[in-house]
Amino acid sequence: MYGAFLDHHVHSASSWDSESSLEALAGQARHRGLPGFVLTDHVEFDPTDPGFGTYRYEPSRLAWEDLQDVTPDLKIRFGAEITHQEKHLSAIRDFLHAHRFHWVIGSAHYVGREEISSFMARAETEGIPLEDCLGEFFKAGLRAVESNLYDCLGHLDFPKRYSRRGPALTGAFWLEHYRKPILDTLTACLDYGVFLEVNTGTYRVGFDEPYPGWAILDAYRDLGGREVVLSSDAHRPEDVGTAFSVVVKELVRRGLSIRNGVA
Ligand SMILES: [Zn+2]
Ligand SMILES: [Zn+2]
Repeated sequence: MYGAFLDHHVHSASSWDSESSLEALAGQARHRGLPGFVLTDHVEFDPTDPGFGTYRYEPSRLAWEDLQDVTPDLKIRFGAEITHQEKHLSAIRDFLHAHRFHWVIGSAHYVGREEISSFMARAETEGIPLEDCLGEFFKAGLRAVESNLYDCLGHLDFPKRYSRRGPALTGAFWLEHYRKPILDTLTACLDYGVFLEVNTGTYRVGFDEPYPGWAILDAYRDLGGREVVLSSDAHRPEDVGTAFSVVVKELVRRGLSIRNGVA
């Protein structure tokens, strides 16, 4: 069913928050019957981020090149996931102009200056309603698309990952409370030709829908969106290709098709 689809979002030990070897990731892709994946290690530009200064382009690229020799049966491409923040726009642009990647994901991971997991913990501890405190998060996603620097927008409704309300925070919740920035973001994806990622990492933490949730994917289709890319956001080998078969079926049922975004 999903044998033709790459996993477009996989982290290796070149990411500060992963210890996965390239060989183990490739082994799992084979085991799952995937045709391959895209390495998208974290590249961070904010000095307060735990991953700041940890990414090394040359060794990462060389390791990927070496992997090609032992994975002739797989398509494995070299990419990155960049945390988009407007204040680092020129540094991100300079970096991307100076380095070659097959695929770059732009993701929002912050609300203003605060990293999303700590922001969510603080908001819920202090009783700040999630219905109206995440405008900055969604605006960062919109700005990522509008920057025209990325091939793909990462995990559009990512805050749900860190809420105590968990799976109650469906795509319908975000669309109800952040309708304008979300529709603006989906429209910008179509206008700029930026792929919308359907990220299945949610299924590892108890959700029955990906990032973004089904209601947002329906809105994307209603705006004229036809194609999405699949990703697992794997940080461990066993997470490559999480829930792809169930998600592919549901995407097709909802009138969306799946593309591979790399040549
Ligand atoms: Zn991310
Ligand atoms: Zn990621």
